[in-house]
Amino acid sequence: MPNIVIIGAGVSGLTSAYLLSKDRSNHIAVVAKHMPGDLDIDYASPWAGANFMPMSAKPGSRWERATWPYLKRLATHVPEAGIHLQRCRLYRRRKDEEKLERDSTMLSNVFAADPWYRELFDDYRNLERSELPEGIASGCEFGSVCINPVLYLPWLVGQCRANGVTFHRKTVAHVSELRHLSVDGIKADIIVNATGLSARKLGGVLDDTMYPIRGQTVVVRNVAPYMAVESGTNDGDDQANYLMTRAVGGGTILGGTLQIGNWESQPDLSIANQIMQRAVNLVPALTDSKGIEHLDVVRHGVGLRPGREAGVRLEKEQIDGVWVVHNYGHAGWGYQGSYGCAEEVANLVNSIIPVAKL
Ligand code: FAD
Repeated sequence: MPNIVIIGAGVSGLTSAYLLSKDRSNHIAVVAKHMPGDLDIDYASPWAGANFMPMSAKPGSRWERATWPYLKRLATHVPEAGIHLQRCRLYRRRKDEEKLERDSTMLSNVFAADPWYRELFDDYRNLERSELPEGIASGCEFGSVCINPVLYLPWLVGQCRANGVTFHRKTVAHVSELRHLSVDGIKADIIVNATGLSARKLGGVLDDTMYPIRGQTVVVRNVAPYMAVESGTNDGDDQANYLMTRAVGGGTILGGTLQIGNWESQPDLSIANQIMQRAVNLVPALTDSKGIEHLDVVRHGVGLRPGREAGVRLEKEQIDGVWVVHNYGHAGWGYQGSYGCAEEVANLVNSIIPVAKL
């Protein structure tokens, strides 16, 4: 049996562990500094919305395409996973139209007038003019999902435990230490590196192309009739306007910011005010059109999306004689690409196993 040690218990590490553990010939341990239940600036996954709103361009869409059927099935058939079906509305502001046409960024992928992902959702439709808020040129709607990470991450841990995966709290200084160190009686034949933004600091990896994309949010008790996101804001290019109601009483996440290179862990209350104002402007039904003071705040939050200059790193390499499969750098799409990426992790692990057994 190959011994596989996964570093990281965010959505990337847990989904990798879950899919790998379906093959009972794998012997798997997850080692992590942070576990579901923790709220920490070095742990992105609990802070996510999280919804499925494709961000890739068509050529790079394989991770999201592969993930959608998994999340849809969980939302439809596995209520205990903490994922529910929810409509998603995308609004293209008149003032952003030219920029969206010109640029080729994640934002322009999301707001493409004729996106590749329309074929993914059988209920995709363009919004009628009468359905568009003030200042919006066009928009679309499709049935998507919203994940409640507070329930979903522990659910993943539970699925892994049922398949025999063991979990260990530990900060790994250098990947090679797992080669010699016995975790739960096993020494790693293969390591999966799912350390997110901390791949910057992990010995043997030290990926200095990783950078934070700061996301500030407000969680409220108010319920949104649908998820909504706008193509821009009047408050600056590093601000965003989106909202989504998490499954199973998880509250509604109002976002947010997209602050590249900003490591600040504490919420900025003037930004929070802007976030709340934008949300009620876009979806007045959130407070029955009674305004921002009728938002019932649960908490303010900040998470750092794990950005990487060349995009996600999904590949294998040998570090100090041990095989490492990297799965990090998912920026703002870690959940919606999680199963596609974990399938690739399994492919890479399977390509190493015959060598690792020698
Ligand atoms: P992390 O969740 O950061 O996990 C890293 C793990 O590695 C942790 O367990 C950590 O303790 C461990 N670790 C790191 N270094 C070490 C070490 N040296 N030793 C031991 N353990 C270590 N994505 C979506 O798909 N949809 C959304 O709607 C969405 N919304 C978002 C909103 C916000 C505000 C934010 C911040 C993010 C959002 N994202 C969304 C992005 C998503 O949250 C991330 O892409 C994803 O959580 C990254 O997961 P990860 O497992 O790679 O990293």
